[in-house]
Amino acid sequence: MTNRDYYEILGVSKGSEVEEIKKSYRKLAMKYHPDRAEPEKRKESEEKFKEISEAYAVLSDDNKRAQYDRFGHAGINNQYSSEDIFKGADFGSIFEEMGFGGGIFDELFSGGRGGSRRSQRGPRRGADLEYQLEISFEEAALGIEKTISIRRGESCSDCNGEGAAPGTKKITCPACKGSGQIGQSAGFFTIARTCDSCHGQGQIITTPCKKCQGRGKVSIDRKINVKIPAGVDNGSHLRVRSEGEAGDKNGPNGDLYILIRLKKHETFERNNADIYCTVPISFVGAVLGTEIEVPTLYESKIKMKIPAGTPSEKIFRVSGKGFSDLRGHGKGDQFVKVRVQVPTNLNPSQKKSLLEYAKLTGEDISNESIAQKIKKAFK
Ligand SMILES: [Zn+2]
Ligand SMILES: [Zn+2]
Repeated sequence: MTNRDYYEILGVSKGSEVEEIKKSYRKLAMKYHPDRAEPEKRKESEEKFKEISEAYAVLSDDNKRAQYDRFGHAGINNQYSSEDIFKGADFGSIFEEMGFGGGIFDELFSGGRGGSRRSQRGPRRGADLEYQLEISFEEAALGIEKTISIRRGESCSDCNGEGAAPGTKKITCPACKGSGQIGQSAGFFTIARTCDSCHGQGQIITTPCKKCQGRGKVSIDRKINVKIPAGVDNGSHLRVRSEGEAGDKNGPNGDLYILIRLKKHETFERNNADIYCTVPISFVGAVLGTEIEVPTLYESKIKMKIPAGTPSEKIFRVSGKGFSDLRGHGKGDQFVKVRVQVPTNLNPSQKKSLLEYAKLTGEDISNESIAQKIKKAFK
């Protein structure tokens, strides 16, 4: 118990309103909360934290504060036990606001504010599991059902998850008499520590179950059917409820998360719900207009009209051939970029036709002039 002045500890003046005291305490608690301290400074933080908490407990209570104002520390110590000092003070809402649980008081102070530490003896939810699943563009587009194999901890069937060999019983831990905690005196506080003998369980297994070696759980390979909805993307997380690790003490199972990995596609690229592809067209088709076939995720091919005079790299949109939007906003689009192919290995009569075409347009395409152009370019 501190003998420093409570007002000084909280850095407030004698006439301060309760709100100001609370504000100051919150600020200091943030600074000295043991959960925020570096490991080597934890002890120091704990001491500081106890001191400010004691000051706050007294100054935030009208009666205790009046007593303290009149008689100083003696007035408090004569009237209240160390436990009574903290009784009635509103720490819970402050820690909730700050994002800390009230569990720190169970660790630091006697009297057990809230039962958060006791909860480790009750049912506990099992851990979540993650499975990475690689699927193709087509599977992601259409949705698919897959069977995956996972290994997970399940409740041992021989001992019903108790860990004690069938026919034997757990005994009450003699070290903590079943409470799971050992009280340790530290100044005027009693610090409750988790019992080492039973790891806070309050009970001890004398004859461990052979099948699970007393763990109450066994690893089992399971095949699980998962439905992949249409539209999933690379990095999508799908939750399969209750297919994770078994809980402890009949606690609920954890969940299984499927992490989607989308394989690269040789034709398509994806951007959210839209897909992109590049399709070659002949230069005659680009000039005169044509109809080409375009691959999609859904049918093998669709026909697409290319108007006369289409430049290379022009992008056409085919609506509704992208991926389904997972939030139900219909489907994305497919963007088709056409790339004009330059013919190679022409036979003499094809060449002749092209030269005739050049002549008709007045283009000088003779071999000499090409040679000159190349020369110029490299000068
Ligand atoms: Zn077992
Ligand atoms: Zn124990």
